[in-house]
Amino acid sequence: MDNPLQVMVTGGAGFLGSHLCDRLLAAGHDVLCVDNFYTSTRRNIVHLLEHPNFELMRHDVTFPLYVEVDRIYNLACPASPIHYQSDPVQTTKTSVHGAINMLGLAKRTGARILQASTSEVYGDPELHPQPESYWGNVNPIGIRSCYDEGKRCAETLFFDYRRQHKLPIKVARIFNTYGPRMLPNDGRVVSNFIVQALQGKDITIYGDGSQTRSFCYVDDLVEGLIRLMESAEEVTGPINLGNPGEFSIRELAEKVVAMTASGSKIVYEPLPQDDPTQRKPDITLARQTLGWEPTITLDEGLKPTMAYFHDL
Ligand code: NAD
Ligand code: UDP
Repeated sequence: MDNPLQVMVTGGAGFLGSHLCDRLLAAGHDVLCVDNFYTSTRRNIVHLLEHPNFELMRHDVTFPLYVEVDRIYNLACPASPIHYQSDPVQTTKTSVHGAINMLGLAKRTGARILQASTSEVYGDPELHPQPESYWGNVNPIGIRSCYDEGKRCAETLFFDYRRQHKLPIKVARIFNTYGPRMLPNDGRVVSNFIVQALQGKDITIYGDGSQTRSFCYVDDLVEGLIRLMESAEEVTGPINLGNPGEFSIRELAEKVVAMTASGSKIVYEPLPQDDPTQRKPDITLARQTLGWEPTITLDEGLKPTMAYFHDL
């Protein structure tokens, strides 16, 4: 990126958004962080509040927004199952009305807009690993549907705005990402296991722990998002961003217990409804079009994540 840009990050106070704000400011851009603090606190961005190029706006993206920007990263949406399921109607509104409002803003300003979509659009996939061409296996009426279908509808809106209004869009399908600044009570598996291990509490595996996930460290993911945003106009995605290393949830639990030298014991709890049995990105497209692939292994990424939760 050569010239400083006016960059808006919705969900900018969240886990991924705050790391993205850090990187954009370090590159010399002006950053407008828009967040309603639904699943975050000012703690993630408190170190940026005095930065001359940083502006914080408390705003709910389900309402229209009028600002002047060159780039929009649309990350606003609760991402953890316990949070997105606690008010499912608001989750769908955030994805769908939020997308409509941010796309409308992009249309008026001519800004380039990137959507933080998700591997959840593949649902409980029958194809493994998942390429972008796979249409998914999603339950439209289950407890995860507010998130999965909301994100799928947002993708539809992005591509319809491109076809109908020629908008420069980018859609990233993000796979499970972890790192410092996740909420300790976030409910996602990496933060849950680390916090449980550090507190000497039982490690809660849902189901038998044979379900798999692929875990990407936040720095790798943010690099992928920025490369996608700054890619050639014809590169729209959807494009998978994630780490293809695949681990069972039991393997992750054992790793966390070993690395924290915790006395915690592993316990088994019921598997939530529609919990995907396997998930691993095919990142061929990201490698070819963005020259991107993750560089940080799970063992390497868990260390700073554990240090963060330890310091909390
Ligand atoms: P997060 O919950 O930490 O961040 C989401 C942020 O959006 C929070 O700061 C929250 O307050 C804000 N927000 C929620 N609803 C809002 C609204 N209506 N208006 C304004 N702000 C609102 O989650 P995250 O992990 O940082 O995820 C960021 C984005 O990336 C989300 O869109 C999520 O769906 C997507 N994503 C994340 C992952 C992952 O593993 N972290 C995987 C796939 C997709
Ligand atoms: N999980 C678990 N124990 C926990 C939290 C999550 O076994 O304390 C499991 C969960 O059932 C799922 C996997 O870990 O199979 C990943 O869950 P997470 O909520 O992190 O993300 P997602 O299901 O959206 O991939």
